Order: sequence, then C-alpha cells, then structure tokens
Amino acid sequence: MAECSLANGTRGSKTPPTKDGVTAAELFLEEGLTYNDFLILPGYIDFAADDVDLTSKLTRRISLKAPLVSSPMDTVTESSMAIVMALCGGIGIIHHNCTPEFQSNEVRKVKKYEQGFILDPVVMGPDNTVADVFSAKARNGFSGIPITENGQMGGKLLGIVTARDIDFLSREQYKVKLNEVMTPRELLTVASSGIKLKEANDMLQKSKKGKLPIVNEKDELVSLISRTDLKKHREFPLASKDEHKQLLVGAAIGTREDDKDRLDMLVNAGVDVVVLDSSQGNSIYQINLIKYIKQKYSDLQVVGGNVVTTSQAKTLIAAGVDALRVGMGSGSICITQEVPAMEQDVKVVLYEGQQTPKMMAVGRPQGTAVYNVAAFAREAGVPVIADGGVSSVGHITKALALGASTVMMGSLLAGTTEAPGEYFFSDGVRLKKYRGMGSLDAMETNKSSASRYFSESDKLKVAQGVSGSIVDKGSIHKFVPYLIAGIQHGCQDIGARSTEVLRDMMYDGKLRFEKRTVSAQVEGGVHSLHSYEKRLY
Ligand code: IMP
Repeated sequence: MAECSLANGTRGSKTPPTKDGVTAAELFLEEGLTYNDFLILPGYIDFAADDVDLTSKLTRRISLKAPLVSSPMDTVTESSMAIVMALCGGIGIIHHNCTPEFQSNEVRKVKKYEQGFILDPVVMGPDNTVADVFSAKARNGFSGIPITENGQMGGKLLGIVTARDIDFLSREQYKVKLNEVMTPRELLTVASSGIKLKEANDMLQKSKKGKLPIVNEKDELVSLISRTDLKKHREFPLASKDEHKQLLVGAAIGTREDDKDRLDMLVNAGVDVVVLDSSQGNSIYQINLIKYIKQKYSDLQVVGGNVVTTSQAKTLIAAGVDALRVGMGSGSICITQEVPAMEQDVKVVLYEGQQTPKMMAVGRPQGTAVYNVAAFAREAGVPVIADGGVSSVGHITKALALGASTVMMGSLLAGTTEAPGEYFFSDGVRLKKYRGMGSLDAMETNKSSASRYFSESDKLKVAQGVSGSIVDKGSIHKFVPYLIAGIQHGCQDIGARSTEVLRDMMYDGKLRFEKRTVSAQVEGGVHSLHSYEKRLY
C-alpha cells in the first residue's frame, strides 16, 4: 500500500483503503435490486451533453435514435401516442385491448401519417347540435369541426362549423342542429387528396381560413389541415422511419389461435414490429407463435416476453425472437409481486374489499432482471427492452446502464395529451385514467387484455393490476425531448458519449455502481424545505 508523504504531513502513515463503487456484476451478486437501490458513480466529462448519441437497437434489425418505447396499454398507446413517439425518435406499441379492425386501423394511421395532415379530427354530422360542438371544444380545446353526411371521417363533406359560426349564439340556441349554422360545402376552400403539404400551406395562406379539408374524388373527407398546426410545424431530425420514410410503429398481440388473424391484419396495415404480450412469456404458446410468425413473415420483427430470468430468455431466444421485453411485477399499476406501488402521482383506487391487493408472489426486482437478462441475451445479439418501473428520467439512464437497449414506459407517458382517454377533474386536479391491462376494469372491456394474464380455461379472473388516475402532463412533444435531454446529461456525467459506450463501460467493469441505503435515498431527493415547486422542463 502506498505511503502518504505530503497530503497531511504524517509521513509514513498508511493510506486507508478506498474504493469507488463496484462493478455491475458485483452489484447484482446477491439480493435483487431495483433502480432506486443503487446509483452510478460519475466519470470524466470531455464532451457536451448534446453530443451524446442515444441510438439504440429496439430489435435485431430496428434501431431508434431515442431509446424510448410506449407501452401497449389502452390508456397509453394508440395512434396519437405512436405518431409523436416516432416523430421524437422512439416508437409506440399499439395495445390490443380492442378489435383487430380497430388496432390495425390505428397502425395504418401511423404508417399513413404525413406531418401536418390530421387523419382523425373530431367530425360531426348535420344532426349534431351546437351544444355538442361546445362540449367537444371543452374536451379538446378547438372548435373548427368538419361536418360530414355520416358524422365520420370518410363521409361526404357537408360543411364546417367554426367558432365564428356559433360565437354569438345564446344558450337557448344550443339545441340548434349544425346543418343550420355550419358554413356550407360550397363556401369552403377544399383541397384534393394527394396534395403536398407545401401546396396546402399556400392555399391556407391565400384563403385566410383556419382549416383546409382534404377530400377524395367522391368529395369524401380524408384529412384536414389546420393553420395552427402548420404554424407549429417543426422538423423532427430524430424521427423513426422505415425505408419508405413512413413512421415506425409496433403492435401487441396475444398468443391465442385467433391472434393469427389479428397478426395478418396488422401486417397488412404495415406494422414494423409485433410484441407478444404476456406477463410470463416462457410458454409453449409463445414459442409456437414465434416460430409460426418467423415462418410466415420472416421480415417481421418479433419481441418476446415478458421474461426476468436467463432461463426464460434462453427458450425465447432459441425460438427466434428479435428482442426481449424484460419485467415482471415492476409496473406502477402492477400487483403481481408483493411490493406496494411507488409512483407518487398515481392515485391507486382499490376495489371494494381489496385490502391486500398483492397476490401472485412471482417476479423479480427490475434492476436485477434487466442486468441478468441483458447480459445473457447480448451473447445472442438480442436487444432487451426494460419494461416497467420507470418513474423518472434517472431510471431510464440506469436501465440503459444495466444493459437494456431501450426502455418501455406506461405511467410516465400516461396522462399526456397523446394518451387515449379524456381528461376529467377530481378535487380540482386535471386527470386521465391509467390502468393495468390485468386490472378487472381493463379485462372487462375486451377479452384481449385478459389474454395477457390468463388462459382460456381459467374459471376465475384474478386482477394483476389496478385502475387509477394520473395527473395531466401536457404533450409528449415537450415531455419526450425532456427525457432525451435528461438521458444525455446522465451519460455525460458518467462520461459515456453514447449508449453503446455506456454498455461497454458497464461490461468492462469501468462503470461503477454503489448501493444506497434508505436514508441515502432520502438525501438524494429534495429535503429540508418547507415547500417547493417541482417543475421539470
Ligand atoms: P409502468 O411504466 O411502471 O407504469 O409499467 C408499465 C408496464 O407494466 C407495462 O408495459 C406492462 O409490462 C406492465 N403492466 C401493464 N398492465 C399491468 C397489470 O395489470 N399488471 C401488471 N403489470 C402490468
């Protein structure tokens, strides 16, 4: 041991042994750990945070510029979420708690998305009333509504109702039907389908109108362009796109026989990746389905899971998966293990009589699961998606540092403008619903959700998730760039210029970790203040 001669003048005394943390292999030798149980020690910075390259593999063949995936849950991912996730560099996986027709149509909307064109605007029929427009305005915050013969997209265009058509109406006139107040078709400026965004932009400027309906040769409404959206028009340099420049999108399916028909419809709609959605993926059903898909659609990327152990991973890798989804019991709405939910802004609503909702006793702490499965799958070149239990940007950085290529989020993206569902108020707080796909609430909506958790023969459905609500977080147009910047800053502090370097540092033992006690966790949070405001971006 070196002799200390200068620092404290005590020539000849021994330097006490010091150690900067442990390697990941040492950290995970013993008890199971989750993200909050450890920290990553800082490294050396010689680059800007902006320069950190977050390009990561979602599957063997698909790379994303941002390692972020939205979960296939019916309160998280439909086309609106998937479009913005892909624009921001990640990807959305459309849930399957719906009919195959609905799901494949959501996939089609993402694949057909062209920036600036709104494919699913609020549309009404001639018999809707002025009151309907006001309530749509209260929910969605806009009032230019196209009127079609059948009140839906694809119907013959009859007119538009804008704020100017209804502004001065008295309460008594709220019952008036829209065909009496709308600006009729003959007075509208419309464009034909196939028009380029630039030309549409010019038409809007010339007409000075707020909305430009786009119709096909039968005068049926196919999309809409809005002046306010055009003003917001931005470039998305990170956008996740296929070789035809269409946005990437994924979809979840179950492992039952009729899921094969669903799969065909999703493939026809242009899906890029399918996620086999099961809480315990190591099953004969999943293995058979992976082999079936690989034989029928050899180009389609297949994500298997969920798994948390290397032996589960081994069978799915042998069956041919292109990525593994890792996590069991870590989700914020999950009651599969025996650990209470940590997410603070999820208000958990228990069912009547549900005193002790933790029941299945199976799962693994997420940090340990991600580290072990990722290290094992890496040998086979199979990327890992760390799924669930992420409640802050630091958790994402930790998941990536443990070997995950991408991170899947439910609660973190729920409550945003792009998440399905309508906002509602409770005690003056603006909320959206967020529920586990294994909650009784979700399983009663559609049997596809139940298929994630139960086999056909199960007599009684036992909830493995809860139904709750989550506060309004605004648009993911702002939230996802915040997450990206946060991960970049984390990597900068660590001294990793890219997610690839981050993983290499971890496997080389250069990345150092340290466990933290409960009081260290308290110290790591905001403390000793009377009150504070938590604004993140
Ligand atoms: P979160 O990001 O912590 O909210 O977790 C989201 C993840 O929880 C999803 O991607 C699923 O893997 C998982 N999950 C969704 N619904 C349920 C459920 O009802 N029970 C258990 N886990 C669920």
